[in-house]
Amino acid sequence: MANVTVYCEKCGGVYRVSPEMIADEVCFTCREKTLKLVPEKYCGCVTLKKEMEDEFYEKLVKSSPTFDQSCWDRRMENRKRSDEERYKRMSAEKQQANLPRCPTCSSTNLRKVSTTSKVVNTALFGILGTKRHKTFHCNNCGYEW
Ligand SMILES: [Zn+2]
Ligand SMILES: [Zn+2]
Repeated sequence: MANVTVYCEKCGGVYRVSPEMIADEVCFTCREKTLKLVPEKYCGCVTLKKEMEDEFYEKLVKSSPTFDQSCWDRRMENRKRSDEERYKRMSAEKQQANLPRCPTCSSTNLRKVSTTSKVVNTALFGILGTKRHKTFHCNNCGYEW
């Protein structure tokens, strides 16, 4: 069966659960069985309809007798933290993407070929060597370029 959208009356958290789980599922933030079905008109294709979000929180969450401001604040705090973590992870991935990669195995486990070995290379191959010297050594497959 397709998942349904539920919300927590105490903190306003919105979740996707399978219909038979609604009665047993606890709110991720409050750790309580406070979940209720989100009325059809607020449901978007995944969670809430973007344009209905404000109305949803005002009418169904904040005006609910079980609404708990401290739970709401805690949920916001959690969300901020997970946003920050996601941002950190994304920038770490971006940094990874900028790293030079091995053209054969695409490993980022590379070693810059040291100046000493370039000197040796030049000494061995003369002028040809200076043209041919490599910048990177792949620690994974051993390829040099
Ligand atoms: Zn909650
Ligand atoms: Zn490699």
